Amino acid sequence: MNLQTPLTNLVGIGPSLSYRLKRLELNSVEDLIYHFPFRYDDFSQTTTVREAQIGQVVTLLGEIWSIKNIFTRARKVITQAIFNDGTSPIELTWFHQSWLTKQIQTGDRLQVSGKLTKYKSRLSIIMPRWEKMTAGHPALDAGSINIDSGFRQNDMVHTGRLVPVYPETEGLTSKWVRTKIDQLLPQVLPQIKDPLPDYIKDDMLALTDAIKKIHYPDNWQDVEKARERLGFDELFYVSLATQKARAQWKKKPLIHPLKINKLDLGEFIKKLPFKLTGAQNKVLKEITSDLSKAQPMNRLIQGEVGSGKTVVATIVAYLVYQNGLRTLFMAPTEILAFQHYGTISKLLEPFGVRVGIYTGSKKKAKDTNVVVGTHALLSEKLTTTDVGLVIIDEQQRFGVEQRTVLRNRARVPHFLTMTATPIPRTVALTLYGDLDLSIIDELPKGRPQIKTYLVPEKKRLDSYKFMEKKIKEGDQAYIVTPFIEPSETMMTVKAAKVEFEKLKKVFPNLKLGLLHGRMKSRDKEQVLTDFKANIVQILVSTSVVEVGMDIPNATIMIIEGAEKFGLAQLHQLRGRVGRGTKISYCLLYTSDYSSDRRRLKYLETTFDGLRLAELDLKIRGGGEIFGKMQSGRFEFKIASLSDIQMVEKTRQAASHLLDLDPNLDKYPLTAAQLQKLAADVMPD
Ligand code: ADP
Ligand code: MG
Repeated sequence: MNLQTPLTNLVGIGPSLSYRLKRLELNSVEDLIYHFPFRYDDFSQTTTVREAQIGQVVTLLGEIWSIKNIFTRARKVITQAIFNDGTSPIELTWFHQSWLTKQIQTGDRLQVSGKLTKYKSRLSIIMPRWEKMTAGHPALDAGSINIDSGFRQNDMVHTGRLVPVYPETEGLTSKWVRTKIDQLLPQVLPQIKDPLPDYIKDDMLALTDAIKKIHYPDNWQDVEKARERLGFDELFYVSLATQKARAQWKKKPLIHPLKINKLDLGEFIKKLPFKLTGAQNKVLKEITSDLSKAQPMNRLIQGEVGSGKTVVATIVAYLVYQNGLRTLFMAPTEILAFQHYGTISKLLEPFGVRVGIYTGSKKKAKDTNVVVGTHALLSEKLTTTDVGLVIIDEQQRFGVEQRTVLRNRARVPHFLTMTATPIPRTVALTLYGDLDLSIIDELPKGRPQIKTYLVPEKKRLDSYKFMEKKIKEGDQAYIVTPFIEPSETMMTVKAAKVEFEKLKKVFPNLKLGLLHGRMKSRDKEQVLTDFKANIVQILVSTSVVEVGMDIPNATIMIIEGAEKFGLAQLHQLRGRVGRGTKISYCLLYTSDYSSDRRRLKYLETTFDGLRLAELDLKIRGGGEIFGKMQSGRFEFKIASLSDIQMVEKTRQAASHLLDLDPNLDKYPLTAAQLQKLAADVMPD
């Protein structure tokens, strides 16, 4: 057996277990070894009943005096045992586990862990963890379980230690995972070679020690040291992968070098319906500087919703058009594609540029210079050699395959990526280390502030009245229905439909429209057209529907279930209003006002997306706000992006190593590890 052995080859893993393992993406022995606990139950305090306090979490060593199943009138099964540790008998109680009477018998010696409570005036542990102590177990005689058994100090797997708890899927318990890892780890651990160069490892744990300790910590310090090492690796290899990709990209030949006619560009910009902001100009300069080189550009524009990224991208598309080349503009959804198509046509067609659309349902791209679309754009038909620029909006929404488009060709076009996700710079340099970073950190002048209020439930009717009044004055509103799952599943859609029906009754005199990702594109387009034309006055939508929508007459946004979102996400959502010149409002509702109040109140006073992202990191940890973004690019089991120091440290280590040895010739293990990890996350 080795690390690559499929788990299904192991004894005792049948079809149903295989299915559950697959759901957790556990395929090989290695996957299981790298299936890390997300928390630990501290059952390390071995004690006696006499010494223990009620309410204390304890581990006890003793004997089963009796065990039986009791069937209640409600046809429930309770398993009850009397257990004696030599100081005082107590009761052990389990629910719905009638098979336990087959596994545990009178006279068995057990170690049990759990919380000591008083239940019906008797000392008990409800649903204890338990394991049998087999004859000859040293702990039976020694009276202590801290004996050195070679592999690790503590021989117990499920009790009497810091017991790891693993991410579970239905029917696959932590107990099963612990048992399996306990069997496999001693066999495969010696096969693991540490790919991290020694000089970087420094005083961190060796990889094998870290893996052992994450599953079998002797104390909390072990947990910390193991997490430090394993977290370091995660960030380090991502940094290494993005930085290496950057170096490789720089070597790629560009398919069509461009000529930039500054005068003409200036004329074009002058004719735009507004003056560019300082930040837009700065970013445009960075881009034109890229484009005047013989190397392909690979740049990320980061800027808040409404900061004018699309406009900048459109100017760049114009430049490419002047060179007789085509631009593909890829939007993450059809709704956004239609909207961008509208905006870009309006800006470019007066200059003779022909703009096309290409999505699953609408294909009009023949003889056009700029094609806006969804990933349908990647079809052979469009990715022809006259493409000079690919623009990707909100790239974290695209899968690897879609991001890889055109990058594998011998000669590549320029790439421009845009994101509204506020990412602290240090984090961006790691996650997007392969891209050059441009930041639009200024909103166009005259944007009204979005007055934001966290509304207690008892004021809901007042706020509805307020909204109705505004709508009667000609304004429009968005109502975002609760976010249930990160992707738009049936459940989320159903919640939106229910809310829509409810609201139609609340506002019988207003015209409401419903928008969600599962609608037919024709219907989506119709609702959007109606909303744009103010035929629909309130747009009820799921939260996954488009942060990028641009309807200046919409001035009110209501967000239901705000507690489910990160602050930065809420900030992005509210960016759909306040796009015109009128004062706009964002009203937040939460299902638990008192407990969410402190966090959500930040939105009333803070209007800086990056600042809110940092607050999110502080309050909820990185996983939550970066959740979506990571799922598009990297996933971390252990590392936290909120640990800015660690992020910085790993990036520097990676960059130093690549300076030292750009092809990792002297570090073949590191190179192999990188290749393995990078294969499925990085283009190139
Ligand atoms: P983003 O893509 O960053 O969300 P957009 O490019 O869609 O932003 O711009 C948002 C809105 O602001 C659009 O209506 C656009 O026409 C307008 N806009 C963009 N740049 C400026 C500017 N410099 N001055 C005034 N309005 C602008
Ligand atoms: Mg946008």
